[in-house]
Amino acid sequence: MTNPFQNALEQLRRASEVGDFTNDFLDVLAAPEREVRISIPVRKDDGSLEVYEGYRVQFNSARGPYKGGIRYHQDTDIDEVKALAFWMALKCAVVNIPLGGGKGGITVNPKELSETEIEKLSRGWARGMADVIGPDRDIPAPDVNTTPQIMNWISDEYSKISGDTTGAVITGKPVEQGGSEGRGTATAQGGFYVFEEMNKELNLAQGSTVVVQGFGNAGQFIAKLFHEAGYKVIAVSDSQGGIQDPSGLDIPKLMEHKAERKPVNDFYAGTQISKQELLEVECDVLVPAALENSITKENVDRVRTKVILELANGPITPEADQVLFEKGVPVLPDILANAGGVTVSSFEWEQNLKGERWTEEDVFGKLQPIMQESFAAVSSVAKEKSIDLRTGAFIVAMKRIEQAMKDKNII
Ligand code: NAD
Repeated sequence: MTNPFQNALEQLRRASEVGDFTNDFLDVLAAPEREVRISIPVRKDDGSLEVYEGYRVQFNSARGPYKGGIRYHQDTDIDEVKALAFWMALKCAVVNIPLGGGKGGITVNPKELSETEIEKLSRGWARGMADVIGPDRDIPAPDVNTTPQIMNWISDEYSKISGDTTGAVITGKPVEQGGSEGRGTATAQGGFYVFEEMNKELNLAQGSTVVVQGFGNAGQFIAKLFHEAGYKVIAVSDSQGGIQDPSGLDIPKLMEHKAERKPVNDFYAGTQISKQELLEVECDVLVPAALENSITKENVDRVRTKVILELANGPITPEADQVLFEKGVPVLPDILANAGGVTVSSFEWEQNLKGERWTEEDVFGKLQPIMQESFAAVSSVAKEKSIDLRTGAFIVAMKRIEQAMKDKNII
């Protein structure tokens, strides 16, 4: 099963079998509140005109305004955005922040566009969505292939249309433009806090080995955090391929290399491996930090790790999840493990609305207990019901969304 929205519904079905939920609630939760599709004409640098398709799915607002990133990718389509929006609603509920779930995207390979073309495309997305987004309606953020600079263009375009200059319409902006300290590294940092909690049970020692799939925002910073904490990051990959070094890669140097827009398999140290081989490297911790459907029923038997930290959204299919659970490999699920990103996004939103600026110390000082408490809530449900952590996280989130719907008389 590789349609991400079908996978999300299967995860929901599994949670509904164990949790005590009404059919009314499940019917409302499974359906997105609104799907918006727009066309975005862009005049290219060579004078030709290209029309792109853009999306925003506003999945559920029972607990607050919609919140979720915008993805630029050639394979992005409405089903992917719908799944990501659904997971956002659950994620915000797992960490108990007062936001709902949404997600956006554009079907485009941004590597084929110049910076000017990306700016036109991003401003076009903001114009097309200006009626449905806003600081108290729907607050987008970065995701795959979208950057603080893109957030800034969208914020600027929105402010010209709406007159709202707080910047609270979007998060992940550059710090000088109202972005929050710590947002760039928040997803990885939140994931690391969750891993540390899990490790109180696993007892993996310093020097344990880590493999990271994807070397973008989430992947680079988690590799850096593990490296700094004394773990050995023995293999990483990006969309071009992978690199492996059993004695441990020099992550700061690899980050410098990547900053020069060079693929990781071009690095001077280590052995080149394929993207598929990377997932099969024996390790203690495997971190998928790229895209959906990386671990499937086809390759799950060749995955050799003690624990999986899902920084990507939806990297494991439901069939593969089942196999891992039966093999006793714990999976720290996306809606918990990568929720540090949206949590610090919510801090940015709050700072913009209140006109405040928090230090990085303030930000991580607030993030750490949220991630620790969220792990504790999920782990306790999973243990009590003898279920996997993903189903546990779904149940924690669904109970909170159900309560909000009851309070509003939606169900
Ligand atoms: P990014 O665009 O910064 O990086 C994505 C990385 O994945 C790139 O290095 C790319 O080359 C690599 N990649 C793509 N296909 C690959 C493949 N088949 N094999 C190996 N590498 C591949 O994106 P990001 O923001 O780091 O997001 C990565 C994942 O984390 C996504 O699933 C995203 O939804 C999730 N996530 C990101 C954030 C955030 O704050 N950025 C928050 C929560 C979840």
